[in-house]
Amino acid sequence: MIIMFDPDTPLESVEAVEALARRFDDVTPRRYEYQGTAHAITEVHLLGSTQKVPAEPFRTFPGVRQVVRVSSRYRLVGRHDAPGMPTGFSYNGVRFDSQAVRVFAGLCAVDTPEHVDQTFAALASHGLETARMGAYKPRTSPYDFQGLGAACLPWVFELAGKHGIRVIAMEVTDARHIEEIDRALEATGRPTGVMIQIGTRNAQNFELLKRAGRQKTYPVLYKRGMGITLEESLNACEYIASEGNPNIVFCLRGVKTHLGDPHRNLVDFAHVPVVRRQTRMPVCIDPSHSVGSTRRAPDGLTDIFHVTGQGVIAGASMVLIDFHPAPATALCDGPQALTPDELPRLMAYVQRVRAAYDEVSTLAAEAETAK
Ligand code: PEP
Ligand code: MN
Repeated sequence: MIIMFDPDTPLESVEAVEALARRFDDVTPRRYEYQGTAHAITEVHLLGSTQKVPAEPFRTFPGVRQVVRVSSRYRLVGRHDAPGMPTGFSYNGVRFDSQAVRVFAGLCAVDTPEHVDQTFAALASHGLETARMGAYKPRTSPYDFQGLGAACLPWVFELAGKHGIRVIAMEVTDARHIEEIDRALEATGRPTGVMIQIGTRNAQNFELLKRAGRQKTYPVLYKRGMGITLEESLNACEYIASEGNPNIVFCLRGVKTHLGDPHRNLVDFAHVPVVRRQTRMPVCIDPSHSVGSTRRAPDGLTDIFHVTGQGVIAGASMVLIDFHPAPATALCDGPQALTPDELPRLMAYVQRVRAAYDEVSTLAAEAETAK
């Protein structure tokens, strides 16, 4: 059971709800704070045997907005068919929810300070404050470039600050990497922020998931497992949230099967509305790792553009995309990287598709309320 409070409810009311919850056998209350645009929203979750706990007494406390019986297994990340559930979060001045699309473009793998500088400059010149940068690379072969690791973090963060980049999605493959990122940000005076990325290869690395969930400084970008069910990936997010960090973005990046050939993975963006229906997590799409090449259709658009459009028209609110100022020199995934002249075209394309989505979703919502 979840007891949701109005914004800025006095603490005494929250504590009184918790005290009442403790009077039921085998029930433990746990408090969660969700940071909205203007307000923090508090929820008290009742853990344990809540089937026989009546909802009515909880509704009478001042500030209680609603009491929701948890119907699905995704206790924390689930939407529970409750209207008015807070969704999304703010981090380092950037809002992540369903209201707008955030484009995170950048290097699959950090290589040189020049390329990082050029990348951030290109993003900033198109008004972007969000980027991707891979420092720790999980590679198929041990002989492939493994990423520059902690050594590159100080200059990556300083260059981000120089260009006004506020959030960098950065994959970690070990709990130690979260500490390295935190230390490097602290040492450089926190010129930017980091969204901790859990890659598809670690989709069920429960110890790493729990570690990402135990800290609340950084939000988490979770990439669905390439060879597990959607339900298993959503449960993995529940691991993160159950450790205390509800600020999670769920990223679709394709699933591994030869049925997706010639794309690198079978594009799974039809799952955008499914994830949005079942959970409160903002949904990201990664067209680069889904498609894996910059081949073009006869209409002149690359397959990467096409699938980006498919994800955005389905309601995705974040796009994680590989970009490189000189893809031929990239040390990882150059063949799928967007070039500097394609970036403004992608931005314009995303904006148009999003406008179409806003129009059709508004019409659909109006039709629902008219029923
Ligand atoms: C990446 O985004 O750099 C990456 C390795 O993606 P994935 O984990 O989806 O393969
Ligand atoms: Mn890659």
